[in-house]
Amino acid sequence: MIYFDYNATAPVMREAREAWLAITEKTGGNPSSMHQAGTRASIALADAREKLAAFLGCHPLDIIWTSGATEANNMVTHHFSKTLGAQDEVWISAIEHPCVHDSAKFYFGKRAKLIPVTHDGVVDVDWITSELADKRPGLVSVMAANNETGVIQPWREIHAICKAYEVPFFTDAVQFIGKMPLKGLGECDYVSGAAHKFGGPRGVGFLKIPHRKTITPLLHGGKQEGGRRAGTENVAIIAAMLAALEVREKQISHSQHLLRGVWRDNFERELLRTLPGASIIGANVPRLWNTVSALMPDGDRKHQWVVRLDKAGFAVSTGSACTTGKEEPSHVLAAMGVKSAQAMRVVRFSAGWETTESDWDALVKGVAKVHGEMHHGTAK
Ligand code: PLP
Repeated sequence: MIYFDYNATAPVMREAREAWLAITEKTGGNPSSMHQAGTRASIALADAREKLAAFLGCHPLDIIWTSGATEANNMVTHHFSKTLGAQDEVWISAIEHPCVHDSAKFYFGKRAKLIPVTHDGVVDVDWITSELADKRPGLVSVMAANNETGVIQPWREIHAICKAYEVPFFTDAVQFIGKMPLKGLGECDYVSGAAHKFGGPRGVGFLKIPHRKTITPLLHGGKQEGGRRAGTENVAIIAAMLAALEVREKQISHSQHLLRGVWRDNFERELLRTLPGASIIGANVPRLWNTVSALMPDGDRKHQWVVRLDKAGFAVSTGSACTTGKEEPSHVLAAMGVKSAQAMRVVRFSAGWETTESDWDALVKGVAKVHGEMHHGTAK
């Protein structure tokens, strides 16, 4: 099986497994305990915090460990729901992950205003600038890169605009971290990440909050994380997350070729040649080097593609893992103006650091084979 669903989750890398085992064996204690076993765990936790802060470019105490990005993102929307005035709005991009979108709607209802995106899936910066001319939201939330299309968002530019207007800026960087250089992320007020998207374990992530500020806790009943997130920290999976990130940061600094998306582009060219009538979503704008969101030819249904490619030995997806299986069209594609009938034909291929050039080549051959089966009942 060749795996092309890294945006859903990535396999846990060897270095992360080894770090998990080493910390589990070395630090049996609770990091809040005062004895030596507890102290060892608390030192390991502080070490991980310092490493992540150095990668992001922020203070170690700006970081709160969480169970993943869903929790981190809910912490942000929850915090602002408790601290903003009854009339205040939050502006979130129309293509945010459901854990931002739905939680913002839950807490703010109509006061959660959607920032539109262009047909290419890029958040409309002009909309933000013109709305800011006479309104001030309590928060602007724009993800760093989209999970379905891979389109990289102008988060640096939007952060600079928000800073000028003194509006807090939050970026869900889940799909960006471990794939692109982290530089500048730590300057954003709020940043979330999840280990399992870059080769760390599932069930662990973090939230970076503004320096010297606190956050209204979502979980109560413990003084962990400076009283900001109750519950015993899972030191071993946090250390494993940092081990994975260290590897990814090294790879990112040595892989300009990959980061330019050369293999992805070759794959897309071949796919378009093989499948007349297909097109690439967000083809004209900067995208993650690993993600291809393809609108398959008329008549093809995305679930057929996923099932048939699975049988042919390729794990691909219909979009975000969280919406897979539901027949309703993706809100991301809808926001981009993709008609719902077309959205039913969109297949996502997402590679990882372990993916080789020959995996991409094999995938395009697999696509051609499945296309042949679907349209002529033959394997090409
Ligand atoms: N944000 C984005 C952009 C994602 O892609 C995901 C997961 O697919 C999440 C948040 C949620 O992450 P987790 O499932 O680790 O909580």
